[in-house]
Amino acid sequence: MENLRIPGPTPCPNEVLQAMTKQMINHRGPEFKQILYDITDKLKQLFQTKGDIFLLTASGTGGMEAAVVNTLSPGDKVLSVAIGVFGERFGVIAEKFGAEVIPLLFEWGKAADIDTIRKALQDKPEIKAVLVTHNETSTGVTNDLGSISSVAKEFDKLLLVDAISSLGSINLPVDDWRCDVTVTGSQKGWMTPPGLAMVSVSQRAWQAHSKAKMPRFYWDFTKAKNYLEKGQTPWTTGVSTVYALSTALDMVQKEGLANIIARHARVAKAARDGIKSLGLSLFAEESHASNTVTSVAASDGLDTKKLLKIMREEHQVVLGGGQQKLDGQIFRIGHLGRVNDDDIAAVISALKVALPQAGFRSKS
Ligand SMILES: *Cc1c(COP(=O)(O)O)cnc(C)c1O
Repeated sequence: MENLRIPGPTPCPNEVLQAMTKQMINHRGPEFKQILYDITDKLKQLFQTKGDIFLLTASGTGGMEAAVVNTLSPGDKVLSVAIGVFGERFGVIAEKFGAEVIPLLFEWGKAADIDTIRKALQDKPEIKAVLVTHNETSTGVTNDLGSISSVAKEFDKLLLVDAISSLGSINLPVDDWRCDVTVTGSQKGWMTPPGLAMVSVSQRAWQAHSKAKMPRFYWDFTKAKNYLEKGQTPWTTGVSTVYALSTALDMVQKEGLANIIARHARVAKAARDGIKSLGLSLFAEESHASNTVTSVAASDGLDTKKLLKIMREEHQVVLGGGQQKLDGQIFRIGHLGRVNDDDIAAVISALKVALPQAGFRSKS
């Protein structure tokens, strides 16, 4: 079997795949209502929130758009803190819907600097919201979201968080960190196929929502809330993916959030240690290296395209490449969701064979 080690879609347990073979049910009937309420309750525990949770039929990006259009109005000034591809995408979404985006870009591979964010908020008191990525999947860096939140709240800003590749895998206490809208996606840490975005909405976000004028129809949180009161989603949801998520969340609950977070930390450390033992260097600054994806710098003659091909064809290990300007500069190992020590050991031992074949000449 293939060892799929990209940062989403991630491998699904057999039980989860089996759940998707179940017959359709009435998505406005009592059985669906029970499943939806059960999923919502479980997600509240995993998001560590007492706020609202909605299931949207979308990939993660749909959830990001929902966060923007439900809380902002055209002309609103927003600070878009970006440390990679996905941070920049969040800013672009806001801009497309007419927000006045103030980009705050940091060097790729590094985390956002808290004092720089504070200064940006001091300089422009008109800023209404801060957009931020918790875990930047393109660079393998986890932002210090607790501190970013403290600064945003020091200035009383709305905080919209892309936690697509962190929630459920890396600790993110949504209420403690006062995140107003938090977004994740089923195909990342949730051991579920792509197709669902899960979002949390705080009281503060509802206040913003009541005044927000960006155009929205499919993503409207008011509709989502009204329908959830009846045990439904406003539009026909991906029923099979909901079955899958329900089964995956049973497994998550059984393992326990604290154990899952610890497993991700352990496996990520094994990935980083293994990479260093091969004479490679990490791309991300190690103090903020992600526990869900490890980015590795191409150095010493390494051809990453060739490496990924050899790994896939000869070792059945599928790794991620670099996105946009990191194409050819890095490769990435995904380790989120259903992942264990053996999966990483297999990656490292295959790399040991494949690296020299892909041009890498270790100095050590
Ligand atoms: C995967 C990912 C996205 C995009 O999600 P899609 O499901 O592909 O739309 C956005 N942000 C982060 C941090 C991600 O990891």
